[in-house]
Amino acid sequence: MKRFLVIWGCCLSLMASAQQLPVLCYHNITEPGTHKNDGLHIDRHQFERQLKTLSDSGYHTILPDEMVALLQQRKPFPAHACMITFDDSHAEHYTVAAPLLERYHFKGVFFVMTVTLNKPHYLSSAQIKALADQGHVVASHTWDHPFPEGYKDWHQELVTPRQQLEKITGRPVVYFAYPFGAYNDSIITHVQQAGYKAAFQLNHLPAPGKVLFTLRRLIVNGGWSGAQLLHEMTLYGTQ
Ligand SMILES: [Zn+2]
Repeated sequence: MKRFLVIWGCCLSLMASAQQLPVLCYHNITEPGTHKNDGLHIDRHQFERQLKTLSDSGYHTILPDEMVALLQQRKPFPAHACMITFDDSHAEHYTVAAPLLERYHFKGVFFVMTVTLNKPHYLSSAQIKALADQGHVVASHTWDHPFPEGYKDWHQELVTPRQQLEKITGRPVVYFAYPFGAYNDSIITHVQQAGYKAAFQLNHLPAPGKVLFTLRRLIVNGGWSGAQLLHEMTLYGTQ
């Protein structure tokens, strides 16, 4: 009986982890010594150490089209697959992160808020186009990053940014990330009506019945060593 329980316990944890592709979320990539590494900041050396650990451990990246197709077909994710995402359109996503991703043969997903387009320290239209041309995915993060109660003009927050990014990249823009990871039923409905195929939040488990519009991500702490990142990714599917 005890052996049966152990085997059953393993099955349960495998089932749980199979439903959770680790989707990593980064924000600011900084110059070493300019900011403490934390949940919103990681210096470029530490970022590279984390990428190297993923690469050395056999990880490869998949992109949202593949993730969504596997979820829809109820197929398991490939072993050692992960997704790497970047929020808030910082210029360093192109100038620092993209070349490092390239070094380790990874592709990323870049969630852009369009209010910052072509502003100092943020991604320019040319940089966004270049990211898409390099095989990364450009996705939407609203116009001006509202709190849930701040969506005053749904078209301006959800439709116009999608159309604008499609014009810049020449590709469909069908993925969305909720600012602050925050969503409610009304926001989900509007995101669906705006033409998005799936949407990402942050640390919560996907909502039953709305998995594609509540996909979970792991905010990577810039203070984590590579080994700690791997550990957090292991826990990710079981909590
Ligand atoms: Zn954001």
